[in-house]
Amino acid sequence: MTKRLDCIIEGCHASIEGETEAEIMAQAQEHAAGAHPDVELDDATVESIRSSIRDV
Ligand SMILES: [Zn+2]
Repeated sequence: MTKRLDCIIEGCHASIEGETEAEIMAQAQEHAAGAHPDVELDDATVESIRSSIRDV
């Protein structure tokens, strides 16, 4: 099953797809490091990202 995450940063329309939550979280961290270097990936942010992952 494919899962998708739409970037939670306001104004960013990136979407990330992967087969597993772990795969998406790894890509999301890469995306955040590259596109949102000012966003701190603290526990709350990571939780928020994780809860935004949907099955597609
Ligand atoms: Zn983004």
